[in-house]
Order: sequence, then structure tokens, then C-alpha cells
Amino acid sequence: MNADTSRMIQSINPATLEVNAEIQSTAPGDVADIFANARQAQKKWAGFSIKKRLDHLMAGKEYLLKNTDDIARIITLDNGKTLLESLAAEIYPVLDMYRFIATDGRRALREEKLSNPIFPIARIESGNVFEPLGVIGIISPWNYPFAIPMTQILAALLAGNAVVLKPSNLTAYVGDAINKLFQESGMPQGVVNVLQGSGSVLGNAMMDARPDKVVFTGSVPVGRQLMARAAEQLIPITLELGGKDPFIVLPDADIERAASAAVWGAFVNAGQTCASVERVYVHQSVAQRFISKVVEKTQALRVGDGLQFTTDMGPLISEDRITLVEKHMADARAKGAEIPTGGERILTFGGYFYKPTVLLNVNHDMECMREETFGPTLPIMEYTDLDEAIRLANDSDYGLTASVWSKDTAKAKKIGRRINTGVVTINNCLITYGFAQAPWGGIKDSGIGRTHSVHGLYEYTSIKNITTHKSMLTHDLWWHPYSEPKFNGLKAALNALFCDGAACKAGGVVKLLKSFKLLS
Ligand code: NAD
Repeated sequence: MNADTSRMIQSINPATLEVNAEIQSTAPGDVADIFANARQAQKKWAGFSIKKRLDHLMAGKEYLLKNTDDIARIITLDNGKTLLESLAAEIYPVLDMYRFIATDGRRALREEKLSNPIFPIARIESGNVFEPLGVIGIISPWNYPFAIPMTQILAALLAGNAVVLKPSNLTAYVGDAINKLFQESGMPQGVVNVLQGSGSVLGNAMMDARPDKVVFTGSVPVGRQLMARAAEQLIPITLELGGKDPFIVLPDADIERAASAAVWGAFVNAGQTCASVERVYVHQSVAQRFISKVVEKTQALRVGDGLQFTTDMGPLISEDRITLVEKHMADARAKGAEIPTGGERILTFGGYFYKPTVLLNVNHDMECMREETFGPTLPIMEYTDLDEAIRLANDSDYGLTASVWSKDTAKAKKIGRRINTGVVTINNCLITYGFAQAPWGGIKDSGIGRTHSVHGLYEYTSIKNITTHKSMLTHDLWWHPYSEPKFNGLKAALNALFCDGAACKAGGVVKLLKSFKLLS
């Protein structure tokens, strides 16, 4: 490969704007060769038994456990989130994915035997096998720069694919740490590859190399562009896109817990989470109690450098993110929102800090209730009747996750079924991203397809059905030559097999035996 020494990517600490590290970018002209190399490596990797693949993969888990502190620090330096968030929201989901691939994931890739009442009679055996697709292109964002690509890579590799990862150029340092994890834990050369650099340039080069599948996590506009490119070549694509996730508080909710959760769910990772709490609907009867607790808890948050254990909320990733938050806040103010706390950036710290912000008196004409703010803001709207709350929750272009808060969990589950999202949590928010066995993904503009779980694992496979017929007959009933008696015999067989009524079924059996001249 041509080392492009003139193009280094700087990893900038968003808390201090200091340079953490310089990472070599990938020359776009090298991408085709990287894919060709990955294709060769994939053939060998796919030939390994699942046990042998797992032996290689689990060496990565050991590496992660040995280097937890260093990796958490790199995530915090590169992205800004607190060390605790790096551990709980980045490293934990990856460890749970390691557990999943070694247990449920491994079992899910075994041949799936099919059953059908006709199979034993006809001496048919049928089953599905799960074959790798080839080389998977994974394009990932900066907001969870470790957990998102790692959980996707592990599933893709277990299924026998090779991977080419394009991490966000805003978190190239974490991308580099992922590369090291696989290379230093002994992954065979070429099975995991990392392209570093600009999204549009390397994204185009990646699509030109025709991956066997693309898994994209990021914004809706880029997702649309990639899907259009994928359509030209019929490349399958999974899209994990944005969210505007509602949080519905019922009158019987545990208000103390709901208020703490809303504050955590809105401000974790400085609100830069696809599934963060972006809209709260609280019943009028408990609104004042809920709001005063939320405001008090928001004001108690300690904003600062994520490397300090006492920091509750770190910076945003970039100036662009602050600009968007400011735009949403200006729009909300102009349309009559009240901001009891926050509502401005923090200039004294040096980095990209914005105060955790609560908004009241908001409505769906405001950008902060319709568009993804992706910043530390928590707009709260009151409702009087449950149908209205559900209508408001569903009044969105997005459909990623939602949460419902009530002590009556059966009722909350029923409400959950009426909300148009891919994930609903009752009395919690965000947690299912950390459960590798739970499917992750959304509907509407939040994306297409699922990651995590066996459903997500199957998205990295081609499902092949293999059917074996051990027939003793020289001809099957439906083969040539055709005739009226054959038609009648086949019709009798259909009645015998599929009639629900006893008389119809028995009639079918008699006619069938007659057609074979076993009855006169
Ligand atoms: P983004 O779309 O700007 O970038 C995502 C990735 O795509 C980056 O690696 C970027 O370099 C690359 N990219 C940019 N332009 C490209 C192009 N033309 N071709 C190919 N690749 C290109 O998104 P972002 O700002 O990094 O991430 C934030 C967004 O991601 C938010 O909308 C958030 O909700 C979403 N997100 C969704 C999930 C989910 O699971 N649904 C998870 C995390 C983030």
C-alpha cells in the first residue's frame, strides 16, 4: 500500500481542543486493493469452523479486558464522553456481544432443520444453512465510535465474513484502537481492515469496490445517498439512522425515577445518542412535580472534561453540533418556549461545551420537537389524555426507540405496542443497546434492518435452503405427463393434507387411495 504521509488525521480532544494523536489516513486509491485482499482472506476465514473463528475472536475479548482502561481513555479523549460512559455505554455492549457470539449467536448459525407433516411421508429432509456474504463494508459514526462498529464487526466475523470498517474521521483514534485490538489479538491478516479518512471520499471508493453488504450507521441524508449508490449495484444495505425518541410519563409513574432517567437519557454523551430522550410527554397531573425534579437534577449535573471521574457530562464533538443546538434553541425561544435552565454554550472551558438545557411550553411546530437536536436538550410537553400522548409520540418522521413510564407495566406494554418504533422500553430508556440478544434498529427515517440479536446476525448471512429427497418413487405425482386422473389424485391429496373438517379430509384420503388403485 502507498503510505500517504502527507495526509494525517488529527484526533482532537473536544474538551480541550488539544491534539490527542495523529492517524494515517487511507489513500482512496488503495481501497480497491484492500478489498481484494479482504476477499482472499475471507475465503480462508469462511473455511474455518465456527469454533476456530471463535478462538480468534475471543482473543480480542481477552485483549479488551486487559486494556479496558486504555481503551476507555482513548474513547473519552477522542469523543469527549465521560470515562464512566466509555465503560458503560461503549465497552459493556461489546463485552456482551462477545458473550452473545459465543452462545446464542453460535447456536443460531447451526443448520436449522425444517419440519412439515409431509416430509416424513415423502421422505424429505430440509434445512437452512447460514453462509457468509463475503466482505462487509461497515461505515460508522463518531457518537459511539467503539460499541457501534465493534458489535457489528463481531457478528459479521462470526458469520464468516471479512470486514472493511470506515470509522468517522472525527473519531479516527478509536478506529485505530479497534484496528489494534484485532491485529494485536492475532486476527488473520486481511480479515479486519480499517479505512481512515473522509466519509464522502472513502465512502465512494468503498462503494466502487462493491462490498457484498453495507452496514451504515449515521445521518439520514448520508444514509439516503448510500442507499441510492447501493441500489445501482444491488448491494444489500442496513441503515441505522437518527431518532427523535419520545418518553411518555403516565400519572402513576415513579416520578423520582422517571425524572432521573429523563435527565440521564437526555444528557448521556451530551445528548449525542441516536436513542437519547429527545421529547418528553408528561401527564398534566404530575407535570409540576416531574418538571421541578428534572430542573433540579439538570442543574446538579457537573459539566467538564470527561477524563475527570467527577464529571457527569462532557463536551459535544464539534462546533457544528453546537451550532445546530443553538439553531434549535433560537427557534424554540422565538416560538415561545421557556428555558428554566441552560440554553447557552459554556465558553470558559475551551472545548465544545453547552449547558444541559430544559425546555418547557414547547410544541410540534418547533424544530426541537421535530428534528434530531443531538445535543444536551430536554424539551418537556404536557398532555391531558393518553391517546393524545400516543399521537404526539407517533407524530415524527423517526421511529427508533421510545419509553413508557408507569407502575402498571401491563398497561405500559399495551401502550408500547401502539408506538411506532423499533424498540420500546418500559420504566427505562436506552438500555437495550447493551443487550446483545435484543434487536436494534428503527422504522421510518430511523432506518432499515436490524443489528444485534439473532435477527441482526442473520443480516450478515445468505440463508441457503438445502432439501434432500430420499424418494423410492421413480416419478412424483406432479411431474409429467399430466392427465385428468393425475389432477384428481393431486386434488384428493390436497384435501387429505389441508382440509380442517374430518369429512373433507377423509374424503380426500379415500379418493387418493382410489387413485392409486389401493381401494376399489
Ligand atoms: P454522518 O452520516 O455524518 O456520518 C456517519 C459516517 O458516514 C461517518 O463515518 C462519515 O465519515 C461517513 N460518511 C459521511 N459522508 C459519507 C458519504 N457520502 N459516503 C459514505 N460515508 C460517508 O453521521 P454522524 O454525524 O457521524 O452520526 C450522527 C448520526 O448517526 C445521527 O443522526 C445519529 O442519530 C445517527 N446514529 C444512529 C444510530 C442507530 O443505531 N440508529 C447510532 C448512532 C448514531
